[in-house]
Amino acid sequence: MSNRRGRAGRALLRALLALLACAPVPAAAQDAAALTQQMVIARAAEVYAARLNDHVLDGDARFTARVNAIAATLIARARRDYPETADWAWEVHTTNTPDQNADCMAGGKILVSLAYVQRLELNDAELAMLLAHEIEHAALRHNLKEYQQALRLDPRWAARPFLELEHAVDNDSGLMDQLAPTNYEQEVEADREGMLLAWRAGWPAAQLAGYFKKMYRGSVSPRRSKPDYPSPQLRWQAARELAATLQKNYVQAPSEPLH
Ligand SMILES: [Zn+2]
Repeated sequence: MSNRRGRAGRALLRALLALLACAPVPAAAQDAAALTQQMVIARAAEVYAARLNDHVLDGDARFTARVNAIAATLIARARRDYPETADWAWEVHTTNTPDQNADCMAGGKILVSLAYVQRLELNDAELAMLLAHEIEHAALRHNLKEYQQALRLDPRWAARPFLELEHAVDNDSGLMDQLAPTNYEQEVEADREGMLLAWRAGWPAAQLAGYFKKMYRGSVSPRRSKPDYPSPQLRWQAARELAATLQKNYVQAPSEPLH
């Protein structure tokens, strides 16, 4: 999802800048030149906490239990496959906000909308695919890599506060256009590695691909790709091909099922 970083919003930005003015502060206050994965994770934790305040959380006990159970299988697998993630303070919450889909911010901060899962009528394997895609954005350090790409595109960012770069990546249309190919590649990578992660966690590949079929069928423009996003049709096609390869070459995922 394109919303994985969470939209801090202008009000939040102003509040944070005000806060920075009167307190000795960490990550966000530093120049973008000092960018590290720890800074990205620290900021994600701040923004996630602020976002949680904007939502009614975990209101549907059954859905929340379902999301937590499925996420647990994927997080357990990610901890084995991506050692860095083993120490993360993973968090999983649900909401019913209509404009929220699902995302996993840096450091393993997950928020999933019941409305989105209901709209696509996702079964457990399809929900696992959705979550695995989002988890891969975090495990593959996609936010950090996007900032690093912005610094390569325009080295002047290095001397400006990280918080400004963070804001520009979500709001500066010129920079967003320049970053679109990076975002596109990251979506393709999260789809592919997400399916592999969920499959290694024990989910059948063909069932995982069903998520993309439902996304395709539920889309109003299933064949339209954007500069920063492959079309639902391309995503479903890639998922079908990967699932077919996995099923052809392996009888079962190379690990015990975790669910
Ligand atoms: Zn994504």
